Amino acid sequence: MKTEISLEEIKEDLESKKSSKKEKKEFAITDLPGVGAATAEKLKEAGFDTLLSIAVASPGVIVEASGVGEAVARKIIQTARSKLNLGFESGDEILRKRENIIKLTTGSKAFDALLGGGVESSALTECYGAFGSGKSSLAHQLAVNVQLPREKGGASGQAVWVDTESTFRPERIKQIAEAAGLNSEEILKNIKVARAFNSDHQMILIDKVEELIKEGAPIKLLVVDSLMSLFRSDFTGRGQLADRQQKINRHIHALLKLAEMYNVAIYLTNQVMSRPDVFFGDPTEAIGGHIVAHGVTYRIYLRKGKKGSRVARMIDAPHIADTECCFVITEKGINDLE
Ligand code: ADP
Ligand code: MG
Repeated sequence: MKTEISLEEIKEDLESKKSSKKEKKEFAITDLPGVGAATAEKLKEAGFDTLLSIAVASPGVIVEASGVGEAVARKIIQTARSKLNLGFESGDEILRKRENIIKLTTGSKAFDALLGGGVESSALTECYGAFGSGKSSLAHQLAVNVQLPREKGGASGQAVWVDTESTFRPERIKQIAEAAGLNSEEILKNIKVARAFNSDHQMILIDKVEELIKEGAPIKLLVVDSLMSLFRSDFTGRGQLADRQQKINRHIHALLKLAEMYNVAIYLTNQVMSRPDVFFGDPTEAIGGHIVAHGVTYRIYLRKGKKGSRVARMIDAPHIADTECCFVITEKGINDLE
């Protein structure tokens, strides 16, 4: 068990006390029907520390986070919505929002098609797969492609790369950029890389990205390579699993908020483990459990295919059927199979 309390945690604690005080003046989480102090605490620990986060949650997630029944969860969400005056949006407003969505090309038409056009802004796209399956390669490719103009599958934007495993390779960026006839110096300048040293640091970096955007940086892609490795090494014991999941839940919520508020494409890589209880078929599973599985918008499984190709499989997505496609990774980057 961790006994030391870091300065960050103390700060965090103070911040959360401050913000809960602020909310008390208006409508506190504990004012929601069926939410006592203990339930409010559970909700907060799971990342539901504002009325808005509860208002936009699904009943299942609230049930899971707080242990209340489904009917109570619905009531809680409804009340949070009514208190926030979350009104209806008309279809044309939603359409306008959808039209602002950017789809970054992966470099492969087949892979883009699998994704419904490319790696979307306002969403979390996760690729999981074994070592060497191509997760970081796609990250490098996207960091270049986000800088292309929109008509070429980019967003004329910059990339931020949160590097947890020291996998960012400027040489690889140079190679991909030059193969596309781009000025690699310029391309490299528009990729901001931050090495994260532990899971707290990883989470703080997400706030920093928001600051950069607020200062005017045209950031349209955030890469986290990889999402879970630091959480895995920071929380090793079985007894720490619940703490880890609460924290990863907060992290996923922060990422989703960033994606939606600033129309940023967020690309996450994830490691795999082998499920001991699967005897037939592929036992490979992403780590992070249902919190990551439910939190991400698009989840793709990458594996090596025939003759050095790669296979991408869409695991679940709101409006795309589960399908597979093939692509290749060459020195020029990601491309279609010949
Ligand atoms: P992951 O992040 O899933 O572990 P990577 O994206 O690092 O995997 O994939 C590494 C693979 O990408 C290599 O095994 C190789 O097949 C391919 N690759 C990486 N760089 C190059 C390159 N310069 N030229 C050709 N293939 C490359
Ligand atoms: Mg990698």
